Amino acid sequence: MPEDLFDAVVNLCKRRGFVFPSAEIYGGIRSTYDYGPLGTLMLRNVREAWWRAMVQERDDVVPIEAAILTNPKVWEASGHLATFADPLVDCRNCHERWRADQIDGTCPSCGSKDLTDARPFNLMFKTFVGPVEDDSSIAYLRPETAQGMFVNFANVQSTTRRRPPFGIAQIGRSFRNEITPGNFVFRTREFEQMEMEYFVRPADAPGWFEYWCAERLAWYKRYGIPDRLLRLRSHVPEELAHYAAAATDVEFSFPWGWGELEGIANRTDFDLKAHSAHSGVRLEHFDQATGERYVPYVIEPAAGATRAMMAFLLAAYDEDEVGGERRVVLRLHPRIAPYQVAVLPLSRKPELLELADEVAKACRSRFQCERDDTQSIGRRYRRQDEIGTPLCVTVDFDSLSDRAVTVRDRDTTAQARIGIDGLLAHLSERLGA
Ligand code: ATP
Repeated sequence: MPEDLFDAVVNLCKRRGFVFPSAEIYGGIRSTYDYGPLGTLMLRNVREAWWRAMVQERDDVVPIEAAILTNPKVWEASGHLATFADPLVDCRNCHERWRADQIDGTCPSCGSKDLTDARPFNLMFKTFVGPVEDDSSIAYLRPETAQGMFVNFANVQSTTRRRPPFGIAQIGRSFRNEITPGNFVFRTREFEQMEMEYFVRPADAPGWFEYWCAERLAWYKRYGIPDRLLRLRSHVPEELAHYAAAATDVEFSFPWGWGELEGIANRTDFDLKAHSAHSGVRLEHFDQATGERYVPYVIEPAAGATRAMMAFLLAAYDEDEVGGERRVVLRLHPRIAPYQVAVLPLSRKPELLELADEVAKACRSRFQCERDDTQSIGRRYRRQDEIGTPLCVTVDFDSLSDRAVTVRDRDTTAQARIGIDGLLAHLSERLGA
């Protein structure tokens, strides 16, 4: 392992095109990032892995995609306008601003202890809708996706005929004007969330809360994060948000310490009741069979896609020695890795390129696949190891006569000779796809 895992991963991300500073040619903009070709593929895989577990594999969860700009009354009802704030202090010496709860009374920039009193700083980005910039046109970029599910509760319930327990899931961008973003994509002002609101009978809420804590922890393990880097941490009562009866975070052991990957909260009936009160529209469940009427409680697993991607990268980064040579290898789960397969013709001889194209075309029907014919084969294996490609398929001169290729494993570097006819089935089996 490198001494500084964090730097190693950040450098790899830049060098290989996972993540770039945003608008780098203009000097970037603080703590804002653009996802390059590999990062885009990987982030998409993180979303899909979440989607598979939370929507596709379940009978009780339906998806929505709500607007990022919405009626500001949503944020009044949710409490975000009044309370979505962090405590802000100014350093009177160097004029930097800090989150009071993240420093110990000393300015991290200049060391001065001459700080102002903390005052609340609302984290929502404000903008104006339409050509007139006055109070009546103020809107906010959503700071979470969750409210989209609450305000659409009645629409979803009536159009899908769902009854509790059922969930509404959404993946999308959220925006928070964080006072101190940082640690690469761990905390940024624009980020991506994967949230699900699970509506249950109030009496069943504690049981479902435990269920979702276990499910969500298992998801990170299923996609390759080892046990020792994960833990569940329950919030102590003083820490709980105003709407929550219980909350537990899935935490990851980041190089700087344990940090939140995802929060699971029992939000009670706070949100549906608040939106009922503010909108005048009843948001509740009516059971026609029993005549029973109640406002469901909500269990919310709220994860960050961009933060999860960073955890997957940190957990996967490894260095070892192959044939007396140091190599960097990302031991990513096949479903999280940007490419599942790389097709490598041994040389640029036209017959080999032609066969490699045929093999790559077949692979692309099922996997994200890269075809690379530059440099020596050893170099190309290293390049694929470094970006986490689980399997390389090498097309060599024998392939022309025996219609077989060599499949090389990223983790063990073991090679197997496989007939082209059975290649897709072989790759699918090994990739679990
Ligand atoms: P934190 O305590 O780290 O600020 P939070 O408790 O405010 O996070 P939630 O509101 O529970 O976070 O959001 C759910 C998830 O969204 C977090 O667990 C995290 O993965 C992600 N997330 C929240 N804020 C950011 C951010 N600024 N940058 C990247 N991801 C974020």
